[in-house]
Formats: sequence, C-alpha cells, structure tokens
Amino acid sequence: MVIMTMTSSRAFLPVLERIAEETGRTPGRGRPADYIPALAACDPRSFGMAVAELDGTVYGVGDWRQPFSTQSITKVFTLALDLAREGDELWEHVGREPSGNPFNSLVQLEYEQGIPRNPFINAGALVVTDRLQTRTGDAAGELLAFLRAESGNASLGFDQGVAASESQHGDRNAALAHFMASYGNIDNEIPVLLDQYFRQCSVAASCADLALATTFLARHGIRADGTRLLTRSQAKQVNAVMLTCGTYDAAGEFAYRVGLPGKSGVGGGIIAVVPGRCALSVWSPGLDERGNSVAGVAALDRFTTLTGLSVF
Ligand code: GLN
Repeated sequence: MVIMTMTSSRAFLPVLERIAEETGRTPGRGRPADYIPALAACDPRSFGMAVAELDGTVYGVGDWRQPFSTQSITKVFTLALDLAREGDELWEHVGREPSGNPFNSLVQLEYEQGIPRNPFINAGALVVTDRLQTRTGDAAGELLAFLRAESGNASLGFDQGVAASESQHGDRNAALAHFMASYGNIDNEIPVLLDQYFRQCSVAASCADLALATTFLARHGIRADGTRLLTRSQAKQVNAVMLTCGTYDAAGEFAYRVGLPGKSGVGGGIIAVVPGRCALSVWSPGLDERGNSVAGVAALDRFTTLTGLSVF
C-alpha cells in the first residue's frame, strides 16, 4: 500500500465524503451477481470509493481498502499489457466498436466471423488473454505482477474459490472460446485459455489497489515507477475504448451520466480515468440489469457533477 505523503493535496476527499454520506442515505441499490455463486454472498450495502492522484497519493471513503472480486475490470489491464507488446496487430483480431449487447452475448460472433466487437465484452477479452498467453506463457501471472507493482500491494492474489466457481459455471465462456477457435481466432488450447481467463477475473483487489493500478492511464501511459507501458497515443486508445465499450450495453448512459472512461465488473467494482488528473475506483456489489454497480455509477455521476471534471 502506498503511504500518503505530506505533500499530497487529497483535493477530492471532501467530495468523496459527501458522496459516501449521500450513498448511505440511498436505499435500493441493485442485486449482487448470482450467476457466479461465489459472488452472490456479497453484502449489497458495502460501499467504497478511492482516488489516486498522479504522484501515487491514494485516499478514500467507506470500504475503500476492502478487497473484492475485480472480474471484468481486469480486461483493461490485459488489454494494455497485450497492446504494449504487439501494438496494432491486436486490432486485426478484436474490434473496437460498442456491441450494444450484453457482455456475455454470442449473437454477433457468427455474422462477424469470430472477430469480437471489442476487448471489453467476454469474447473480446478471451481473445486478448489468448494473445497475451501466447506472448508471455502466463497471462494471468503477468496481470498479477502488473497489479502488484502499480498498487504497491504485494499481497494481491487470485481468489481460488471464485475461479473454481466460475469454471464450474463457465459454459458460456467456453462456448465463446470454442466458437472463436472455429474461426481460427484463438491460438491456445481452450482449457488453458479458460483457466487463464477465470484466474484473471478472480483477482481480489480493493478500491485503493485498483485506483493506483489505473493511474497509468491518467498519466498517458506512464507506470508508477516512471517507465512507459503505453505510448501516449495507445493510452488515448485504451481510454477511448473504455468510454465507448467499458460498461457494455450501458456505455452510452455511462458516458452521458459520468463523462469519463470507465470499466465495470460484475463484482460491483468500477474504475474510471480523469486523463492528466487522477484515477478513481468505486465498489458496491448491487448491480443493475446490465451488470453495472448501481451505487458505483451513481457515485461517479456525483463525482463528475460536483467537481466539474470529465472529458467533455
Ligand atoms: N468473470 C465474468 C464472466 O466472464 C466477468 C464478467 C463481468 O465482470 N462482466 O462472465
């Protein structure tokens, strides 16, 4: 965990405190995901929110240090790690248009010849993980090493129970992977790919960890140690795909309400980027019908409304 420095501005702490107070007064906050039994047990009243500033200062409110299941949020980091390695060739295997369909949908894949619409629906993330696996031999391990380094939290790890639960209920992801393999868009053996993907989704991390791990996108591609992961242009690309595709078939509504690049996961977490300024992470397990955290979207909506910060 990065220790807050005396020079830190913690400029947004009063805003976070106000949002936490408002959230605590708002009843009816959606339902935790139940298609992965290990997630169904979460308390929907949990709420945490953190801000990480460009210098690595991190602070938050509520349950901001409590680890939760990151799920699809990890799709941002595997995309960045693969893009850094292979560059534009990736885009021959996965598109970058919103799908307008649920995150685990199969329907577009057949008439688009096994090329998924974008890297943030499950089909697209499976392609990215497959390509990262080919390049590194351990895609999930690469992801974990990156998250540990950026967050400064060496104890981050996979949640074996969540991974096992997802594997047992993984027919739809297996179907997506096999279908894309039939079009020649998957390199690795399907069981190997699914094992990597389920471990990737199972990473447990807190809002503090995720806000810090997302800060490289606010720094236009520069990691916590000052080295460059992505070119400035690639960082723009990842942020743009987050804005247009990061919250599935609700991305238009998210852009309308929040106005920031963001990525959600069915564990109830959301990350968001204010380019050049800070990264945010919020967590509350109750989801809406599209799989996005109800209180999480509302909190980010309040953040950009109260601060006037957005990309617009
Ligand atoms: N592990 C989940 C799945 O593959 C991730 C989905 C999500 O967070 N939207 O179905």
